[in-house]
Amino acid sequence: MTEPNPRPLPWLKASIVDIRPVTARVKAFRLRVDFDRPAIAGQHVDLRLTAPDGYRAQRSYSIASAPSSDGIVELMIEGFGDGEVSGFFDGVAEPGDVIELRGPIGGSFVWRPQDGGPLLLIGGGSGVVPLLAILRHRAIAAPDVPALLLYSVRDAAETILRAELADRARDEPDFSVMLNVTGGTDGRRIDAALIGAALARLGSPRHSYLCGSNAFVGAAADLLLDAGLDPATIRTERFGG
Ligand SMILES: Cc1cc2nc3c(=O)[nH]c(=O)nc-3n(C[C@H](O)[C@H](O)[C@H](O)COP(=O)(O)OP(=O)(O)OC[C@H]3O[C@@H](n4cnc5c(N)ncnc54)[C@H](O)[C@@H]3O)c2cc1C
Repeated sequence: MTEPNPRPLPWLKASIVDIRPVTARVKAFRLRVDFDRPAIAGQHVDLRLTAPDGYRAQRSYSIASAPSSDGIVELMIEGFGDGEVSGFFDGVAEPGDVIELRGPIGGSFVWRPQDGGPLLLIGGGSGVVPLLAILRHRAIAAPDVPALLLYSVRDAAETILRAELADRARDEPDFSVMLNVTGGTDGRRIDAALIGAALARLGSPRHSYLCGSNAFVGAAADLLLDAGLDPATIRTERFGG
């Protein structure tokens, strides 16, 4: 848990440094922002948009980058065509735009190097984003901590940062990734057999982090409990949907 902090989080100005496509639906945004406290891997920020008539919309987005002091945070936003906020980022936002942001936020879905491992990370779709921050931080600060990412996507083409994950699995001896595709004729949902295979490969996790849609996280958490994991070691983050 983070230490209680009585100061309300202020809305900050964040400028978009650059935007790059990650998949057909997801774009990565690097933002320059001066947090008044250091971020912890797994945390998120709130973004707020204000229309000319004063109407405001606010949504949460996980931080994909490892904690750093360089004043840059990376977000990965999946565009929903009709989405109030993601639609803006998908179709309208440009480098140089200044938006309102507050954060970093979140005291339970976080990992620090001293928390150790083994780490079982289970992500569905864009739910992999905070897990990337954990993996990136682990690689820098605690590469000996064993970690396994079980990442489920509808279509292999929707895999976020497939090349980075493959490079990490090749170069980092204590990290492995299992990609699961749910769509198509061979598709399967994450099930007890897949969880069993992940646990056989990783060993007993000290911490499990589950992130994705409400349905995905609920199903994955049930499978971990059925596999006998201690509920106190399981942390969840639900993106909605
Ligand atoms: C803590 C937290 C962290 C998050 N981090 C990320 C992140 O890193 N990247 C990211 O892309 N999103 C993330 N989300 C989801 C994000 O906050 C928004 O819910 C999402 O971008 C949709 O907002 P919108 O305004 O574009 O869509 P809305 O206008 O709210 O909804 C538009 C349409 O999209 C559907 N929809 C909304 N959210 C989802 C969803 N998650 N899955 C499927 N359908 C949905 C709605 O049912 C509706 O039909 C996070 C959510 C939380 C709570």
